[in-house]
Amino acid sequence: MSDDQYTFSDPTELYRDKKPQAQHQPEPGLDARLEPKADLGETSYRGTGRLTGRKALVTGADSGIGAAAAIAFAREGADVVLSYLPSEEPDAARIAAIIRDEGRQAITVPGDLRDSGYCRQLVASAVDAMGGIDILVNNAGKQIYNEDLTTLSDEQFDDTMKTNVYAMFWLTKAALPHMRPGSTIINTTSHQAYTPSEILVDYATTKAAINTFTKALAQQVAPKGIRVNAVAPGPIWTPLQVSDGQPQEKIAEFGEQTPLGRMGQPAELGPVYVFLASAESSYVSGETLNVNGGSPTP
Ligand code: NAD
Ligand code: MG
Repeated sequence: MSDDQYTFSDPTELYRDKKPQAQHQPEPGLDARLEPKADLGETSYRGTGRLTGRKALVTGADSGIGAAAAIAFAREGADVVLSYLPSEEPDAARIAAIIRDEGRQAITVPGDLRDSGYCRQLVASAVDAMGGIDILVNNAGKQIYNEDLTTLSDEQFDDTMKTNVYAMFWLTKAALPHMRPGSTIINTTSHQAYTPSEILVDYATTKAAINTFTKALAQQVAPKGIRVNAVAPGPIWTPLQVSDGQPQEKIAEFGEQTPLGRMGQPAELGPVYVFLASAESSYVSGETLNVNGGSPTP
């Protein structure tokens, strides 16, 4: 069976050879070291010119969901600025090469999103390199589990808020003045926004904030012709999960509890970001699109 998003196939059987395995990496994990390999759509995603000439800025574009979105955007004809942490250079270089193979520009701008100065510089670099921004994907995220709030450090709480919420605010604030009517903002939230795990108090809190930020801002910028939406993934196989996003013993059963009975692959998210970025979703704003293997949402 071919594992792609085009062949008529049973979604419970898709990616059946990719079973999660317990493993550990220091944060942020590298996609290059993930076993089994995540499918980012490298060989499968087919573009049809839906983002021809568009200028995209994607955070966390080196790996996982952000990398799948970046590859899909390039195959649809967009240039892409990739944000990631400096230690993720090997992953980012691979994604940038895939984008350049499509004949699109890939501009790599490593840095730390907890720093508002980097966020502003990132937007300035994107505008400089591409001549504007018309797709902003706030996707980078920090998820470190903690079993007891009394041991959750002030530093971790602050880092999770800064990475997941403040950076979205700083980047959006800096990008909006450059966004023409027709531009789109896509924020990565999570199923955790509605069904928070007891060991992800700080993380789940940020994901609820991202949903609400999306719905409030969507109304504010709608008259400017700018749409704002969110994507809420369920369990997706990415380096985030094996670098203390989950306890080791939970990794082996990752995704089993979903109605489809398996974890998802980043490649199953690429088309969703393309839909929300493109004019195909012209009447969709303030929406959260759930990509979670069928778990009910509010
Ligand atoms: P990932 O590890 O591949 O991507 C997260 C990225 O965030 C990293 O690659 C890194 O570049 C970036 N990042 C983290 N801290 C940063 C910082 N301080 N400065 C700059 N960049 C930083 O994992 P992923 O699962 O693809 O995560 C992407 C998004 O999806 C996150 O927002 C995550 O919360 C969300 N999400 C993931 C899942 C899942 O199961 N994997 C489920 C729901 C939501
Ligand atoms: Mg990464």
